[in-house]
Amino acid sequence: MSEPRTGPRRWGPAPALVLVVCVLVMCVVALGGALMRYAHKRVDSLSCHKNLIQAGLSLHMYAHDYGGRFPPDAWCDHVLVYSRARFVFTCPLLPDASGGYAFNEALRGRSLGDVGDPATTPLLFDGPRGWNVYAGPGDVRAAHGGGWQVVYVDSYVRWRSSEDVDALQWNPQSE
Ligand SMILES: [Zn+2]
Repeated sequence: MSEPRTGPRRWGPAPALVLVVCVLVMCVVALGGALMRYAHKRVDSLSCHKNLIQAGLSLHMYAHDYGGRFPPDAWCDHVLVYSRARFVFTCPLLPDASGGYAFNEALRGRSLGDVGDPATTPLLFDGPRGWNVYAGPGDVRAAHGGGWQVVYVDSYVRWRSSEDVDALQWNPQSE
């Protein structure tokens, strides 16, 4: 025999159910935010990758027209005529900067023929912000998920981790 109800009957969902729904909603919102941030990073990395390909090709076009040598100075100014777009010299993670890629200082004015291993010698990389920047391994800007992007002399672009900096062939003479 059941006991008679006492007090008014309560309508609506139980408090525990409301709590579970709130937690689920918060999880979905947090997950959505994380996915959006991840998607933005992927887009930035892809844009950076494409910029480096185009800037690297422009440098090769310059070298083709100047006896196989890379620009001895003002590299952005020299190759702008080949890329025809200033934005390819700026990493998307530096939207307010004018330039964000550094030219490997060791290749300044050097001949393509001097590069013993084009597949491991950096040509351009994520470096300090600025236009016409020449820099070296100490200036790498690891902004892409703890890593950085580089286009090698053979025009291949790769993401590298911060620990990889010293593994590359920065100076073409020291093989
Ligand atoms: Zn970048």
